[in-house]
Amino acid sequence: MTVVRTVSELRALIGSSRARRHTVGFVPTMGALHDGHLELARRAAAGNDLVVLSIFVNPTQFNDHADLAGYPRTEAADVDAASAAGVDLVFAPSAGEVYPPAFRATVMLTGPIVDGFEGANRGPAHFHGVTTVVTKLLNMVGPNRAYFGQKDAQQLRVVRALVSDLNLPVEIVGVPTVRDADGLALSSRNALLDSADRATALGLSRALAVGRRSFDHGERSAEAIVAAAAAVLTSFGVTPEYLAVVDADTFVSLAHLESTGALLIVAAPVGSVRLIDNFALGAPRPAGPSPAPDRKYLTT
Ligand code: AMP
Repeated sequence: MTVVRTVSELRALIGSSRARRHTVGFVPTMGALHDGHLELARRAAAGNDLVVLSIFVNPTQFNDHADLAGYPRTEAADVDAASAAGVDLVFAPSAGEVYPPAFRATVMLTGPIVDGFEGANRGPAHFHGVTTVVTKLLNMVGPNRAYFGQKDAQQLRVVRALVSDLNLPVEIVGVPTVRDADGLALSSRNALLDSADRATALGLSRALAVGRRSFDHGERSAEAIVAAAAAVLTSFGVTPEYLAVVDADTFVSLAHLESTGALLIVAAPVGSVRLIDNFALGAPRPAGPSPAPDRKYLTT
């Protein structure tokens, strides 16, 4: 396991691996690794010859300075955990390495997938920060495949759109949400919850489970599903920023559901942190063909 901090070191190491025609799997993270991140790493290790995991708390996607300042940073433990999960190379750049003083680019998408929900509540700069840093990291690493969690469902949708719109030669792999035994979605921010907040946080997944049960029992009115889930949030003392049924592809709110392709999504403040979660309602809509990763120009 090697830790590198500069793009030139990263490229030198990946280049020698690529010269041996190895495939590269990439897991971008902000560190404070938990089993959700490590599941992404394990998937990457199972499907690729070389696994690169980045640890970079990207300042441009934070809308809240306190959230950025208090974001947990545990690099030494992260490196050990990543190594045990099959990561070969950790890329942990400084902010100055990613955003040198003269930095002037922004990569931004437009439309409902970035305007609503996370975009509306965290502000437009949030997804601009995500799409800019993901584009940069993909260009730095040049992976065949990159792994993202379904826990951040809107982010995953945005990254898929970014890769499609800009013809980035990488396959995006979505990985199901890893949860604690009681259902709470793992999140780096959970480390900032005290035991009372931890009990309150369980309201999110419990509410989503009740909404999904209502769907599974045949309810197709979004309003009724949201009302069932909202009652659970209230019983846990949680006031959501949003709780909605959306089309998983467009992130537009739905009034009436089909049997596939919808998500029940929630964001809520708990204690000093903001948590998000989502459950699929019905099977995902069948995806179109995924373009094969094309890295021939780098390997020949
Ligand atoms: P973060 O460090 O929070 O930026 O997350 C890095 C990656 O890990 C993102 O693709 C997240 O969606 C993913 N991730 C975070 N939490 C989980 C989880 N509980 N299960 C699966 N993936 C996750």
